[in-house]
Amino acid sequence: TAGRLVIIGGGFGGATAARFARINYPQVEVTLIEPWPTFITCPYGNLILGGKRRLPQITHSYDGLRARGVNVVQDRAADIDPVAKTVALESGAVLGYDKLIVSPGIGFRWDAIEGYDEAAAQLFPHAWMGGDGSQISLLRQQLEAMPQGGVFGIAIPGNPFRCPPGPYERISMVAHYLKQNNPTAKILAFDAKDGFSKQGLFQDAWGELYGDMIEWVPLNADGRIVRVDVENKLFISDFGQEHRVDVGNVIPPQQAASIVRDTGLANDTGWVPVDARSFETAAAADVHVIGDANIASPLPKSGYVANSTAKVAVAAALADMTGTAAPSDPVYFNTCYSHGGEDYSFSVVGVYRTTDDGFVETPDSGGISPRGPLSELAENRRLESGYADAWYDSITRDMFS
Ligand code: FAD
Repeated sequence: TAGRLVIIGGGFGGATAARFARINYPQVEVTLIEPWPTFITCPYGNLILGGKRRLPQITHSYDGLRARGVNVVQDRAADIDPVAKTVALESGAVLGYDKLIVSPGIGFRWDAIEGYDEAAAQLFPHAWMGGDGSQISLLRQQLEAMPQGGVFGIAIPGNPFRCPPGPYERISMVAHYLKQNNPTAKILAFDAKDGFSKQGLFQDAWGELYGDMIEWVPLNADGRIVRVDVENKLFISDFGQEHRVDVGNVIPPQQAASIVRDTGLANDTGWVPVDARSFETAAAADVHVIGDANIASPLPKSGYVANSTAKVAVAAALADMTGTAAPSDPVYFNTCYSHGGEDYSFSVVGVYRTTDDGFVETPDSGGISPRGPLSELAENRRLESGYADAWYDSITRDMFS
């Protein structure tokens, strides 16, 4: 073979990279390290809350990658030695690499909200990582068990975090469920920001579909939750206001996953600086970090971006080894669909290029779904729901088939 590509993390970035490498560089040996036996997507996880999907529909097998010749190792990367060019696994095995792609996603800042640790997440779920699916399942069970007229509280972090529109799609899908099953219930959304992605579109949807069920509390109205009391089911704000909730969904502030922080690849922001054309890290040659773990603003931390950038990272990493051209002027894409309700979706699109200093949004590209009265836009919103479903099917095929 021409050389060994090792990939850490079998999610949006890593699975895409593995499949793309096998198809386009068959002379390269590809190993994918992932601790979970299957991958449960965060995208479409909110639709489980809304009752529009069930867990098996968002669970994906690694068999398709195995059939393409990817060596899938079910283990966790414990350490990276960029000098010896090895990855140590939790099981004790050590894998050598010529090029390493790392796409481990996010970790939580467990110290950021007082009282919110891994044990507290069993009572106030975050449901912000796929894992074994237990978090999203727990949140769905709690929603179903909520008393009539109860309060669903959600605590939303400041920037940057995984999936900027994700919390607001979640609010919408919870409201969709409650409207049918618990119509006097309330959603209290506490935000550590004063504005959010697709805000006008979401707030239009909430008003049109759910009346006054949803109350969004921004930072400037004391929206930042700084402490939780899981036993008494309380959210406590910056200024000491206590809010009782029946179900509490806490999305904690985030950073890159531990494997890139513990190995010195991340800087003091907790995220990993990378070269915009190759995703190689400044800290270690031949190590490329893609997906949510890196710093690529203004690109959002999305599955779409992880997929789009994975291909460029592979082409850059494998160019010398395979005698192929490295991408010199790459273009990155993002489309984030959000489900507001039944047959009611909208999207934001971004196109990005690189400069010597980093990433820039291409002027006059991209855009956002139109706003206006539902009477005029119903067909548009319905069509976008179909586009969203098609996006989900095609991106997961581009990762796992
Ligand atoms: P992941 O996809 O999370 O993959 C990381 C993988 O690495 C995991 O499988 C993990 O187990 C593994 N891993 C971690 N540490 C190690 C280690 N030490 N060794 C080996 N493996 C390891 N994006 C969109 O584009 N569209 C959407 O509609 C959308 N909706 C979303 C809705 C919600 C509710 C949420 C939470 C997110 C949503 N996203 C969406 C964002 C998307 O999920 C992430 O941006 C995407 O998963 C990032 O890809 P990644 O490869 O960085 O991380």
